[in-house]
Amino acid sequence: MRIAVVGAGVVGTSVAWELTARGHQTVLIDRCPDVAQETSFANGAQLHAGHAAPWNPPGVLRDAIAWLGQPDSPLRINPLRVLRNPSWSLRFLANATSRRYRRHADANAALARYGVERTRAWRDELGLSFEARDSGILKLFDDPTALEHGRREAAAVESLGIRHRVLDVEATLAREPALSDAADQLAGAIEFPDDGCGDPLQFTAALARHLVAEGAELWLGTTARRLLGGPAGVEGVETSRGVVDADAVVVAAGSYSPSLTRGFGVRLPIEPVKGYSVTIPLQGTTGVPETPIIDDARKVVVTRLGDRLRIAGKAEITGFDLGLDERRWQAIRSQGLSRFPRLAEQLAQAPSEPWAGLRPMTCDGPPILGPTPVAGLHLATGAGHLGWTFAAGSARLVADQLEGRTCELDPTPYQLQRYR
Ligand SMILES: Cc1cc2nc3c(=O)[nH]c(=O)nc-3n(C[C@H](O)[C@H](O)[C@H](O)COP(=O)(O)OP(=O)(O)OC[C@H]3O[C@@H](n4cnc5c(N)ncnc54)[C@H](O)[C@@H]3O)c2cc1C
Repeated sequence: MRIAVVGAGVVGTSVAWELTARGHQTVLIDRCPDVAQETSFANGAQLHAGHAAPWNPPGVLRDAIAWLGQPDSPLRINPLRVLRNPSWSLRFLANATSRRYRRHADANAALARYGVERTRAWRDELGLSFEARDSGILKLFDDPTALEHGRREAAAVESLGIRHRVLDVEATLAREPALSDAADQLAGAIEFPDDGCGDPLQFTAALARHLVAEGAELWLGTTARRLLGGPAGVEGVETSRGVVDADAVVVAAGSYSPSLTRGFGVRLPIEPVKGYSVTIPLQGTTGVPETPIIDDARKVVVTRLGDRLRIAGKAEITGFDLGLDERRWQAIRSQGLSRFPRLAEQLAQAPSEPWAGLRPMTCDGPPILGPTPVAGLHLATGAGHLGWTFAAGSARLVADQLEGRTCELDPTPYQLQRYR
């Protein structure tokens, strides 16, 4: 089949690779001059099946209200944006019941585990180089109650094959000695030994080189204006460089997916949720954490990528604005480094590379993968805070459904029809 994939982030490029590897003629379209230039460019870089729960647990409204009053809060909301898309916010809150949250957390965890496995399989089969490390991840807690809550969350997904180990302070420091300088704050940690990290930009660029080598077409610097077709189904994509005829189209345009599918009556409950990262060069420094860190108290992640340190965090419901608010990115920089005072001192004058991206967040949590009611129109979008972790697994689920094959993972929790 000739298949157009709109969006060359980590998700769309992974889908394009899976389809190309299966012998399809693939056309990957992106408005940017290269792949992974938007949300997949400089994210937290963590492959985390152990941290895959949606962001609307029971009590989310109470937490959100408490955060809104705090300086440097992890959350920022523009009420005008909420009023523009009230149904997403209402559905986000309506999904914050114990039963729904558990169902969506399990769905995310299963896909995250599958995604990490598939990412490593591609790395090994194709020899992809993206500063990958199968290092495990440490989730840190300052408060014993929060640690106990984290333990229960981790135990809930153990039956899905996601292993964890609760560590007291001593064991945490033995696991990651770089934490020793600020150990008095710690209550303990949870280790997820099967998680890891890697640079999604390098991964996506490496996959793109394989796509070109296998004869796929990359239409970069090309905006998809609208999908083409009629009642019988989708027939292609009208782009700024002409028409791409296709037997099937996969929309993987991140937060911009809803505007592409709306013309065909396919409504996607996706909202952009902005986050920031800061990347700092590490040359000549000591006391760098080797294990990727999820800091539960500060709501930031800290990941070593070769000779760089990436710190990421914040959630802002402020529309499609990608402005770099210096106060916000400086806050994640200092929050991320506060566990490592010796390193922070060495990095005081180091240049920071700030970045912001828009997580394509669904109203319930899991992404949207697979067919739509429109013949030939498929989706690979809505990955929220987990798109790097999900990408390779999502690609296989989308390709299996497009080909009418049985999926290795039950696809129903990720299908669009769950919203009906
Ligand atoms: C601060 C931050 C930290 C994060 N940390 C992690 C992490 O540690 N681990 C993890 O798993 N995930 C993480 N994420 C989430 C992850 O980055 C996203 O889920 C993922 O990048 C989404 O990928 P995507 O391919 O769906 O979207 P994108 O990367 O945004 O790709 C969509 C592409 O579609 C293109 N496009 C859109 N409209 C059009 C059009 N009309 N025509 C042509 N092209 C179009 C865009 O140019 C873009 O390249 C983080 C996100 C943020 C913001």
